[in-house]
Amino acid sequence: MDKYVIGNLKMNLLTQAERDHYLKSFIDEVYKAGKFKSRLIICPPSFHLEKFIDFFRGKKVSVGAQNIYFEQRGSFTGEISALMIKSFGAEWVIVGHSERRRLFGETDEVCNLKLRAALEEKIKPILCVGENLDQRKNDLTFEVVSRQIESALKEVVSTQIDKLIIAYEPIWSVGSDEIPSSDEVMQVKILIRKKISELYSPVLAEKVPILYGGSVKPKNVKQLCLEAGMDGVLVGRESLVPGEFLKIVQSIDKN
Ligand code: PEP
Repeated sequence: MDKYVIGNLKMNLLTQAERDHYLKSFIDEVYKAGKFKSRLIICPPSFHLEKFIDFFRGKKVSVGAQNIYFEQRGSFTGEISALMIKSFGAEWVIVGHSERRRLFGETDEVCNLKLRAALEEKIKPILCVGENLDQRKNDLTFEVVSRQIESALKEVVSTQIDKLIIAYEPIWSVGSDEIPSSDEVMQVKILIRKKISELYSPVLAEKVPILYGGSVKPKNVKQLCLEAGMDGVLVGRESLVPGEFLKIVQSIDKN
């Protein structure tokens, strides 16, 4: 299976100068380093989507949105739809990121509606799942992740399942520099495969890339991705620095 390195730029690159500097550094650092094997996906703020799509066209980097609304068009002030990002050339969208669940009240039901809205427009969803610290302390990780997957995939049919990426992102690790052991990550990966296998089939379960996300850096990518047997990583803060992002890509490519 291909390995994936996804950059979630979150609400950064606030000015035109910052955005242009980022794109120039990406060329200087990542492209000048030569070819890479991993599949790269960059998710900028939606305001920059069109610019990023134009910039990365033909450069073997796909572009995704960080969020969409589940309706296609209409009176939904402030929202963007799957159809909208698709018509500008985005291929992916992050669904159910913990910051959206936690700060914007996104429920499992809303994540399911967004995921289905994306698939409907042939946009590939990157579904984020993961437990918070309390749930982890109370040994509820498997239960929480299982429930999140089952709810998110409700009414998703088997022909759609290989369009999906699942990112295991323990909430307590996102943005915190706290990280799980490789064994802990691997156990959740096994659980996710088992869950998809039960819901669909073992063959389909093998087709879904399962990534790790949460405080990934060049120095811990071996532990969090390679030793844990993950199919790649979802990188937040470190993806803002193309040189660091490149080191993560290179570590994954080497193995
Ligand atoms: C994220 O935003 O999905 C993420 C994993 O963030 P960070 O790498 O900064 O923890």
